[in-house]
Amino acid sequence: MPAQPGKTRIGLIGLGIMGAPMALNLLKAGFQVKAYNRTDRPRVRQVVEAGAELLKTPREVAAASDIIITMVTDTPDMEAVILGEDGVIHGAARGAVVIDMSTVSPRATQQVAAELEKKGIEMLDAPVSGGDVGAQNGTLSIMVGGDQQVFDECVPVFEAMGKKITLIGGHGAGQTTKLCNQIAVSVNNLAMSEALMLAAASGLDVEKVLNAISGGAAGSWQLSNLGPRILNGDFAPGFMVRLQQKDLKLVLGAANDIKLALPGVSLAHQYFNIVERAGGAEEGTQALIKAYEMQAGKQARKG
Ligand code: NAP
Repeated sequence: MPAQPGKTRIGLIGLGIMGAPMALNLLKAGFQVKAYNRTDRPRVRQVVEAGAELLKTPREVAAASDIIITMVTDTPDMEAVILGEDGVIHGAARGAVVIDMSTVSPRATQQVAAELEKKGIEMLDAPVSGGDVGAQNGTLSIMVGGDQQVFDECVPVFEAMGKKITLIGGHGAGQTTKLCNQIAVSVNNLAMSEALMLAAASGLDVEKVLNAISGGAAGSWQLSNLGPRILNGDFAPGFMVRLQQKDLKLVLGAANDIKLALPGVSLAHQYFNIVERAGGAEEGTQALIKAYEMQAGKQARKG
């Protein structure tokens, strides 16, 4: 059973790559789960078989839940499921909590929180990092924005899905933190691509170079996890280029709002455009190297 009594009826809207395993972990932790997904998919049926009740609209889910989690793709999707015609706002009771765990705009998050507040509904923004594997294993890092008291009430719910759970500040602070995360991830990826490309274009054994630099001051998650995939020609997605591009647009939008220049991110975004134009939108983010390979006329592969 959940760690503490109180808000134990959970609604989950968006049973995608991330939302479906999160629902399974909530059920495993003993929470009652009501769910909604726009499309009937095998992973939706898997969540129902595990004990969730599937309802027809986000409004119905909200009406039957104390805490309503949304895990959808982008900002307009989050706005649609919360504020739209059959949205959460029309079903949730006063005192209910909406937790948006999608990666979306911090500014839109603040606006949605203000709309919910008018109806006495609380909101936390709680985007995650750790990928589909983190969602399956319940080891996500969760970055939260909102009120301390509301956060405290929701900790047992977060603990069912994640390991590192941090309240950063007020509404939007979780989303801004996630954008900081995406800056570090994408600019590291760019640095890795340039390093491997100079090695390949200089005729060096790229595998030896990768091993030599991975353990020193240049070491990173990107070099250790994505570097070997590039060398093996494995461009299957952990995290897709098109979702990375969505996040980089959010980063640049947030920076633009406060007139901050982030040239490293702009560069990564432009290079990912080259990859998307060449048909790589559904590939993993390690496909960034392809933008350099096209320029060099040479690939960074084993052997
Ligand atoms: P996904 O597999 O594409 O799932 C998206 C979910 O949102 C699906 O259930 C989809 O429903 C639903 N949805 C999208 N637009 C909707 C709308 N307008 N109305 C109703 N439902 C809608 O994506 P995901 O990988 O789970 O990602 C979800 C969020 O987590 C994104 O913001 C992503 O950036 C973030 N995230 C992803 C990862 C990762 O590794 N995948 C890691 C960290 C954060 P349908 O099934 O009907 O399409």
